[in-house]
Amino acid sequence: MKPQRIGNFRVDRVLEAEAPYCALDFLVPEAPPDLIAANADWLKPCFVDPGDDRLILAFQSFVLRTGRHTILVDCCTGNDKERPTRPNWHRQKHPYLDRMRAIGVAPEAIDFVFCTHLHADHVGWNTKLENGRWVPTFPNARYIFAKREYEHWEKVHREHLAGRGEPVSHGSFADSVLPVVEAKRAVFVASDHEIETGVYLEPAYGHTPGNCVLNARSNGAHAVFIGDVMHTAVQLANLALSSRFCSDPVESAKTRTALVERCAETDTIVLACHFPTPVAGRIRRHRAGFALAI
Ligand SMILES: [Zn+2]
Repeated sequence: MKPQRIGNFRVDRVLEAEAPYCALDFLVPEAPPDLIAANADWLKPCFVDPGDDRLILAFQSFVLRTGRHTILVDCCTGNDKERPTRPNWHRQKHPYLDRMRAIGVAPEAIDFVFCTHLHADHVGWNTKLENGRWVPTFPNARYIFAKREYEHWEKVHREHLAGRGEPVSHGSFADSVLPVVEAKRAVFVASDHEIETGVYLEPAYGHTPGNCVLNARSNGAHAVFIGDVMHTAVQLANLALSSRFCSDPVESAKTRTALVERCAETDTIVLACHFPTPVAGRIRRHRAGFALAI
């Protein structure tokens, strides 16, 4: 992704991985079989592999530099995490921090970390393994958690500890969220919290119970970091389609529809966590649905 100017702000991405990943009906089980073919004109070759129709997905963070603060949005899957049921996420050695340094940002320079939600592929770099312990990767950062999101997963985690249910999101709550809280770097905020003027959370519930997006407004320009409100641009063709990972697919569709309709035909730059290169785009009406203009 080219650096994006949002008024006086600048946004870069830090890539962890990007590749043809899975078939549409794996990620979006309700998708009609002809959806890709009917939208191939704008989906291929950027969002869908022209060879086998697999979705091309990225795992990436965004760095927002406002002049006052350096804010990291979403934290991918991380290195060294034990994720035996997810081979792509298991004991990885991504050069993620080198890529961050290459855009001129040292880990020590991050002032705030904000995860749109607490799934394993959004919290990974919150922590790193140091002498066998998980410690905050960004030692000077305040980690902002929407209270509603944190409290939901904290409750599920306690139930797991009591012998009910699986570890939260492949164990990521234990190795990538709790160590930040224990290190006293966490801040729990309302779902409309403002980090600084023009940079504020907004509730976007449905993908997870406390999922939030982050808005950045400067000098009349606007970008929105939408996390997983959409996983793939294919969903723009049919906003009713939620992913298999949405905790409430109906609420997720409502949230997605409201956000897309509000951004459509405006200059708002949409930055989704899993959209592949060139990542940033504006939403346009297209046939009966929408498309991403890149
Ligand atoms: Zn995700």
